[in-house]
Amino acid sequence: MDSVVILGTGLAGYTLAREFRKLDKETPLVLITADDGRNYSKPMLSTGFAKGKDADGLAMQTPEQMAEQLNARILTKTQVASIDRSEKVVRLEDGSTESYGKLVLALGAEPVKPSLSGDAVDRVLSVNDLEDYHAFRSCLPEGGRVAILGAGLIGCEFANDLVAGGYQVEVVGASKHVMPGLLPSSAASAVQEALTLLGVSFHLNSVGTSVNQGANGLEVGLAGGDSSSAVQADVVLSAIGLRPRIALAKDAGLATETGICVNRTLATSDPDIYALGDCAEVEGLVQLYVMPLMACARSLAKTLAGEANEVSYGAMPVTVKTPACPVVVAPPLENGGQWQTEEVEGGLRITCTRENDLLGYVLTGTATSERISLNKRLPAIMP
Ligand code: FAD
Repeated sequence: MDSVVILGTGLAGYTLAREFRKLDKETPLVLITADDGRNYSKPMLSTGFAKGKDADGLAMQTPEQMAEQLNARILTKTQVASIDRSEKVVRLEDGSTESYGKLVLALGAEPVKPSLSGDAVDRVLSVNDLEDYHAFRSCLPEGGRVAILGAGLIGCEFANDLVAGGYQVEVVGASKHVMPGLLPSSAASAVQEALTLLGVSFHLNSVGTSVNQGANGLEVGLAGGDSSSAVQADVVLSAIGLRPRIALAKDAGLATETGICVNRTLATSDPDIYALGDCAEVEGLVQLYVMPLMACARSLAKTLAGEANEVSYGAMPVTVKTPACPVVVAPPLENGGQWQTEEVEGGLRITCTRENDLLGYVLTGTATSERISLNKRLPAIMP
């Protein structure tokens, strides 16, 4: 019997495998991952310091437990080097091959590397999986200083988590507000003020240009607004963005844009190869969040089990995990709506409407309790 082979054991790979096994208990299932294959929830990586959890504390299952639960073979620490579509095999780094009937790419996204000079650039870290998180925690002294490059969602979440965990945090961000592109300035200011009150320092309108070893730890040189001062840190964490991993697909001749292009059945330009999760671009949409990949996993599981299915996305608001100032945001899908900002006690209600239709919203602080009622009025992202 032809195998289903899934590349990747992140939330996309493991959720798909679980959904598939609910429908098909027999077809041989193989998962291949470059990492250690432990099952964990990636969003927890930016909440671990406040909870005092190390990487082992965040891991939920070993690959052996997952293999048993899924009745699957799981190859860990195994980098896939290429896909041979004519032979229907994936080639592993050691030269061996694994044949597939259907292949699923759940390869995730990789951190964008900042452009930096200096003698300590190789000590700049990013945290995009459990092993990165372990490495980051391991080189951070108790109560140490962290310079975060990037004031986007992930940078702000780490800032909140680290300061809550007793560390000293300075954030360097290129724009004049935190979370540009996601939050309007009033909501961004609320988050920045709340984090500042907790003790986070911000260097906005600034970019990190160099990282050097100094007498007092690492020195991050800045350009832009705050270029007069360098940031001193024990660890530099880069959080300037993620980019879908498309190289394997592109090298195999599959259609790619920002992500690996798939239609609503999650099929790539090769009908025997599918993609989902952070690496995929579904009908032009790249969504680096959990809710879309869950919808894709449920839909693709049906297709792989023999009942062709098309994915649909409902409204998918994003919760920003900054407990100092909780935020829920549902960006409008189209331009041209009317924005209205209302102050409520302990928060902001910012809505985007056209006539009586709600197109999107941003809620901060106590106003986040309104999300359930507002969600009912939001349009579906991909009906
Ligand atoms: P990944 O988890 O990155 O998995 C990719 C897999 O592919 C890995 O197993 C890797 O080893 C494997 N792989 C890659 N290349 C190869 C290769 N060549 N050969 C073999 N294996 C390979 N989203 C939310 O919705 N809410 C949140 O609160 C939230 N918080 C987040 C916090 C942080 C710190 C981060 C980084 C992300 C957060 N996200 C959040 C995003 C969310 O976690 C991701 O969208 C999701 O986890 C992506 O899962 P994935 O399986 O597609 O990718």
